[in-house]
Amino acid sequence: MTRDPRHDILFEPIQIGPKTLRNRFWQVPHCNGAGSDRPGFQAMHRGMKAQGGFAAVFTEVCMVAPDSDSMPWVGSKLIDQGDIQNLRLMTDEAHRHGCLAGVELTHGSSFCFNAETRMPNRAPSQIPNEMEGMSSARAMSHSDIRKMQRDHVDAALRAREAGFDLLTVFCGLATVPNYFLYPWNNKRTDEYGGNFENRARFTVELMQMLREEITDCAIGIRFPIDTLDAPFGYGDLGIRAEEEGMKFVALLDDLVDYWDINIGTLNWGEDAGSSRFFEANHEAPYTRHAKQVSKKPIINVGRFTDPDVMVKAITSGQCDIIGMARPSIADPFLPNKIKEGRYEDIRECIGCNVCVSRWEKGGPPIWCTQNTTAGEEYRRGWHPEIFVPTRNAEPAVMVIGAGPAGLECAMVLGKRGYETVQLVDAQPAVGGHLNWVTQLPGFGTWKRVTDWRKTQLSLHTHVGIELNTRLGIDDILNYGAQHVIFATGSSWDTTGMSGPIHDYILGADASKPEIVTPDQYARDGKPVGKRVVVIDHDAYYMGSAVAIDLAQKGHEVVYLTHNESVGPYLRYTLEEQRVHMKLMELGVELLPLQFAVSVEGGKVTSVNKWTAEETEIPYDSVLIVTYRKSECALYDQLQAQPERLKEADITSIHLIGDAHTPGMIAQATFSGARLAREFDTEDPDTHQPFIRERRLVGATEDDYQLGARTLSMAMARGK
Ligand code: ADP
Ligand code: SF4
Repeated sequence: MTRDPRHDILFEPIQIGPKTLRNRFWQVPHCNGAGSDRPGFQAMHRGMKAQGGFAAVFTEVCMVAPDSDSMPWVGSKLIDQGDIQNLRLMTDEAHRHGCLAGVELTHGSSFCFNAETRMPNRAPSQIPNEMEGMSSARAMSHSDIRKMQRDHVDAALRAREAGFDLLTVFCGLATVPNYFLYPWNNKRTDEYGGNFENRARFTVELMQMLREEITDCAIGIRFPIDTLDAPFGYGDLGIRAEEEGMKFVALLDDLVDYWDINIGTLNWGEDAGSSRFFEANHEAPYTRHAKQVSKKPIINVGRFTDPDVMVKAITSGQCDIIGMARPSIADPFLPNKIKEGRYEDIRECIGCNVCVSRWEKGGPPIWCTQNTTAGEEYRRGWHPEIFVPTRNAEPAVMVIGAGPAGLECAMVLGKRGYETVQLVDAQPAVGGHLNWVTQLPGFGTWKRVTDWRKTQLSLHTHVGIELNTRLGIDDILNYGAQHVIFATGSSWDTTGMSGPIHDYILGADASKPEIVTPDQYARDGKPVGKRVVVIDHDAYYMGSAVAIDLAQKGHEVVYLTHNESVGPYLRYTLEEQRVHMKLMELGVELLPLQFAVSVEGGKVTSVNKWTAEETEIPYDSVLIVTYRKSECALYDQLQAQPERLKEADITSIHLIGDAHTPGMIAQATFSGARLAREFDTEDPDTHQPFIRERRLVGATEDDYQLGARTLSMAMARGK
């Protein structure tokens, strides 16, 4: 396989300050749940991308002072000697693979609640944080400002000591530099407030101090050039690309070696846009303004997975370097795959924002729908491209169900060298529930979950695929497999059992023509009337997705939910506001805080969650989105008949994915990967990984090496 010469430009080195990037692939700062307190996890996660060909890998936000403690959201920090020691593992790992290591120096100002450090906070003005309203800060005096700048410089010096090559001052989201810059946060009347020059003064002085003290690292700024319009930005209290955005870049250009340019404010869903609402490179209309006023290399992000789009971003004068967070999580080897012309092996990010949601929920580690090894590089020793060969390739394995769980499981078993793996599904195509979910508006990109695995199965394994085959107990017993893996998925409940009230919604029985479940509607085409009440008692996307689909098809839609707005998990994937706006734009009637209690006589009756006040809503059809039930009957029956399994020479049966526990796709793919990667351990269903992780202060290099060894042993065996 050879690379298309049009993509050569992506592999041209580029000078940034005193450092040289080996190519144009730059992993922008992104959270992964590691911080500096999980050094092995941090080092191996970033190191994997270095190994995969990235020229630069960054930490997530890295706190410069104890009063910038974002707990429970995990960031790294460079406050003391222990942090230096811990993060040096990451820089070593990057350097080992010829990659530069970068840090994102951050002070979160009044956004930080300082839950762990319990330090009082500092800000340009005393305005409570708009997110929770629970954190405020002291308005800084001139000596406080000096100290704040000093804190940044001291952390930068620690970063240099830790081996970082690239020092990015974070001037976006909730940080001190942008709290000074935005009139929204800065109400000062002295020389640090009021006109543009005054509001930019803090950052100008800080950059001058950094340059005076550090000459051997490249120093840059991460800057959202446009805070966008209401409702996400804050009207004239933010900044616009063509006005102060460009002015800021021009003012500071001589003081930086590079610019990492994006957009947005605290609603970072406009930056890390999900594929439901944003195409790749959607920030270009704003970010391209930076090059008009800067002479320095510019990095842009935009969920880049297609090399043609990357090349165009560079050749059109939009940017010089391709920044990636999510695409680098989904495929740490993306640069090398392009370099080697292995385009069909690229595991493209699907833009589901599940990775983001793990951080937003405030708990490590990262999950990725596409890359089941993300966050498992250190503790489980998993490598996305290397599969430990099985010690016994002989036993025949059957995987029943070709949804995300079954596809991943069969693919990994195949890549591990199992010689006889058969993937069987009742449907005419692989993909399971994704075959109909991806038909809903905005969900087309999720097809990549199926497409990538299908390609991998055909290119890199001998796994057999048998479609249009619904298996019963006798078929399974007579199939000739020694191991049977059930990945038979789940179905939306048809009985009207409601998750939040733990009781039946009277009359909500989907065997009636007017009551419909999501799969009956979107997969089976069960007809629905003109006026549809969608009862969303689920927590994620399905309720709002079918409501949008119905409204777009001309139905009169009422969306009723016990939640405050749409499924609450959409807040963590940064989609809540967009979904809410879409429903309003389509004229969907929203009824939040309602428990549906009965569906009878042409009326849905609901009670208000707080007041118990009753509401009656007339309908032609009711779409019940309550919860999913596992399709595990075959597994349960066989598990109860060990003698029949023995007679059939079946030595083990396993249950994975939604068939075990209905969840997100990321959980299904992970469960398939976990079983397949650990299939020849003593008890693969309950196998526990190496989980220990600790700070290195007072510990020896061996403590860290224990985890590193797990990975290198796996890699050595895989070669
Ligand atoms: P998951 O998300 O856990 O992978 P899905 O619901 O997406 O689950 O996929 C499950 C797949 O299993 C579906 O394609 C379904 O057709 C298939 N399936 C379920 N039961 C059987 C069976 N008895 N025989 C063959 N295929 C089955
Ligand atoms: Fe992309 Fe989803 Fe993986 Fe995040 S979790 S990197 S959005 S595929």
